[in-house]
Amino acid sequence: MTARIIDGTALSRHLRAGVGERAAALRARGVIPGLAVVLVGDDPASAVYVRNKVKACEQHGIRSVLETYPATMTQADLLARVEALNGDPAIHGILVQMPLPRHLDAHAVIEAIAPAKDVDGFSVASAGELMTGLPGLRPATPAGCMKLIESTGTDLRGKHAVVIGRSNTVGKPMALLLLQANATVTVCHSATPDLGTFTRQADVVVAAVGRRGVLRADMVKPGAVVIDVGINRDEGGKLCGDVDFAGVSQVAGYITPVPGGVGPMTITMLLVNTLDAAERAAG
Ligand code: NAP
Repeated sequence: MTARIIDGTALSRHLRAGVGERAAALRARGVIPGLAVVLVGDDPASAVYVRNKVKACEQHGIRSVLETYPATMTQADLLARVEALNGDPAIHGILVQMPLPRHLDAHAVIEAIAPAKDVDGFSVASAGELMTGLPGLRPATPAGCMKLIESTGTDLRGKHAVVIGRSNTVGKPMALLLLQANATVTVCHSATPDLGTFTRQADVVVAAVGRRGVLRADMVKPGAVVIDVGINRDEGGKLCGDVDFAGVSQVAGYITPVPGGVGPMTITMLLVNTLDAAERAAG
């Protein structure tokens, strides 16, 4: 079997058109959806991510405010900026780009963001809403993975989903979203012995590890949906995921490529979250 490619760029384009329409509807009511992006330090990868987020906002009717600060910024100054943005009615979403310089306490900064503006969905309040099934802002990457799975027409009810990775930002929220969609969920991690025993039983596999070749063809059930979150580089410096794409695409039913799979969906779901927050604020 040759898997069908789940095209994250095309799905993103479709969803972003909806974002543009919702932003226009808000603007017609006199509300300009606004996202504040805070970048501290000069990490080149973070600068690229932030630029892409700001650009995506501009293209879809969301006003973005980029605040950049030197790596020497103090915790007190950063918290004061977050507090000011919390109180700014023109700002509906606040994103502090991670990772922060080492001397800053990322947890305290995330917790300082008003829950209604936590468009990354990383705060304890947002995690609690997800955990208890309350409506709220969901972390963008796993939310994007859910959209990619939905786009295949797969009904998750009663299906076995295996998530590889248990980070607070990807693996754990992913598992909870799958559970909420009535899948039976297994979460694997670095202490899981014989990963293949689990993944071979899975109708859906989400790989979120950050290591090349974690999922190979002999570890996948024929016809499975495979979502590759990982971002790695191969020996030639080319971008690749956690999944051995060439091999697994011969076995799986659906597979996301890297690049062009999960990546574009992450920014798209950030835009969706910002609009959700703006619409809620506007009543
Ligand atoms: P992370 O915080 O480093 O978590 C990685 C997880 O993988 C951990 O739970 C770890 O287990 C597990 N793991 C490590 N080695 C393993 C192994 N051999 N077998 C099974 N599990 C293993 O990373 P993350 O933030 O979740 O990100 C994961 C990957 O997704 C990275 O490549 C990241 O760049 C990428 N990512 C992509 C996007 C996107 O938009 N496309 C967004 C976010 C992240 P332990 O908990 O036991 O250590």
